[in-house]
Amino acid sequence: MAKEAQPGNIDDLISDFSRFYILTILYEGPAHGYSIISQFKKRVKKEISPSLVYPFLQQLEEKGLVTHTKKPVGEKERKIFELTEEGRELCTRLFKRFAHLVAIAIEPSMYVCAHCGCKVYGGGYREVIDNKEIAFCCNHCAASFKECNK
Ligand SMILES: [Zn+2]
Repeated sequence: MAKEAQPGNIDDLISDFSRFYILTILYEGPAHGYSIISQFKKRVKKEISPSLVYPFLQQLEEKGLVTHTKKPVGEKERKIFELTEEGRELCTRLFKRFAHLVAIAIEPSMYVCAHCGCKVYGGGYREVIDNKEIAFCCNHCAASFKECNK
């Protein structure tokens, strides 16, 4: 894999589908813990445990990806969770990465340029770098890739 600039370690954070799905719910807008749980159930048709949701939200908050505000609901206060700017950027990158993986899985003739990430359908440009054949969309991307990985 090419070196990608990613804050924190996405793979540690998103170790399963449930967490990925929680992010897609937050991406749509602010939500409190209970509404995340009920939206998850409605869409995935599966129960999700609060013991997974709340620690995950806390983890995201510690990493500065999520923030919360307290809103009074009746007598009680509820925490409304919302993605920060950084959290939204991370989600966008994550969704793109998943979209690429899915596209490659359903379209084996396609690959993704190792430098710019654009989709390439056949043709393109390949170059052997450090004994590995790496696929790019064009020789300019290959040149930039070598420059970045010096
Ligand atoms: Zn490219």
